[in-house]
Amino acid sequence: MGPVIGVLALQGDFSAHRNALKQSGAQVLEVRSVAQLDQVDGLIIPGGESTTMLRLLRLENLFEPIRNFGQHKPIFGTCAGAILLASEVLHPTQPSLGLLDMTVERNGYGRQVDSHIADIDIDGQVAEAVFIRAPIIRRTGPAVSVLASSGEIPVLVQGGLHLASTFHPELSHGSSVHQFFVRMVEKAMQERRSCLS
Ligand code: GLN
Repeated sequence: MGPVIGVLALQGDFSAHRNALKQSGAQVLEVRSVAQLDQVDGLIIPGGESTTMLRLLRLENLFEPIRNFGQHKPIFGTCAGAILLASEVLHPTQPSLGLLDMTVERNGYGRQVDSHIADIDIDGQVAEAVFIRAPIIRRTGPAVSVLASSGEIPVLVQGGLHLASTFHPELSHGSSVHQFFVRMVEKAMQERRSCLS
């Protein structure tokens, strides 16, 4: 049985993620409750508005359960989701799950640049990335790998079990970033199984 990937569906562009995941062959479940979170092997936190999402996570009593989930299972945060994963959030400061050792600056490209498309470099390949009121990753911890960047700025990073992008891979053609996350989830499942056996 392949992995079941949850998409946090409280706010933001969760349905585009569902479509991209389906293209990569994963089973998808929208997550709005702890009971649904318990059924998934990995979770995507979509883009949207991180302050609103934080408020809804608390309202639905999902903040702590997702933090605990992230101790054992992979989470992929895109844009607002990356802000929620970060260990430090600036401009302004706000609480976060603290699961990925990085500092992000909200709306880092400035308010006048609402959205833009840039060429990014993923593994030596040039790809198009959509940025919408995107944060800028200002610092990554020593155990975090930068998988893609736009100029000097990291835009796709992996730290431990988790993946974060400041762009929206669900809005571009192709689902290679989603496929990469599905493989991370499969690997984490295998590792958990071998720990249990
Ligand atoms: N600017 C938003 C925030 O700070 C993120 C934007 C996005 O997810 N596209 O939460």
